[in-house]
Amino acid sequence: MSLQVYNIIIGMFCFAFGAAVGSFLNVVVLRMAKKESFLKGRSYCPVCQKSLTAKELIPIFSFAVQKGRCRGCKSKISWQYPILELVTGLSFVFAFCALGLRPRLAFAFVLFAVLIELSALDVKTGEIPYHCSIIIAALGLISFIVSLSLSQNVKLSEHIIGLFIISAPFAVLSFLGAMGGGDVQLMAAAGFLLGWSVVPSALIGFITGAAAGIIIKLTKKTGVISFGPYLSIGIAISYLYGNEIIESYRSFLKI
Ligand SMILES: [Zn+2]
Repeated sequence: MSLQVYNIIIGMFCFAFGAAVGSFLNVVVLRMAKKESFLKGRSYCPVCQKSLTAKELIPIFSFAVQKGRCRGCKSKISWQYPILELVTGLSFVFAFCALGLRPRLAFAFVLFAVLIELSALDVKTGEIPYHCSIIIAALGLISFIVSLSLSQNVKLSEHIIGLFIISAPFAVLSFLGAMGGGDVQLMAAAGFLLGWSVVPSALIGFITGAAAGIIIKLTKKTGVISFGPYLSIGIAISYLYGNEIIESYRSFLKI
């Protein structure tokens, strides 16, 4: 089998796996927003409470076949479901294309799933849950220990700098009311994971967030924007390409 065919097949697996993870994230988001436990009970229709069968749980496909309506009560199913499944699937494919098949890909999958969950919850509830930042910080700790045990060139100081370099100015902004406390925690955790690469992630988050803010203001839907999704885009890009971004910036400045 040629390498190209092999990569396409793995890419398709990554998409299917990501879509299934996205389907699970939908349940987590729905139940977290309602403050229910997401560990017990089958998935159900939030309108008629009907338990969903295996056929109704196939990511994206079920939504398309049922034309976006519940098979029991015919009420409309939120677009959140297929969108989250699609975005998670695509983000997993993207991670595979950037990293290839190696241990770091597993970290990327966990990170992307958490980022997508916190983004959806931030949009829905206006808050980034505490446990999402804890998971990201734990990823940082585990990857640090793994690289240390493989005696790779890692410096704890870089992770510590990352922990504060963005979260400290964010804490000031939060004190002034321009940022939520969840954003501060998120950038502290992401900084611990990414080290210096957290700087481009914050810049990407600010630029995309400001652009979206202007569009939202112009369409006058709401005055408040959640920064979670934009910071998450920045963190995801920096996780995959952070070193390259910093290197090209350095060579641009010739330092
Ligand atoms: Zn229903």
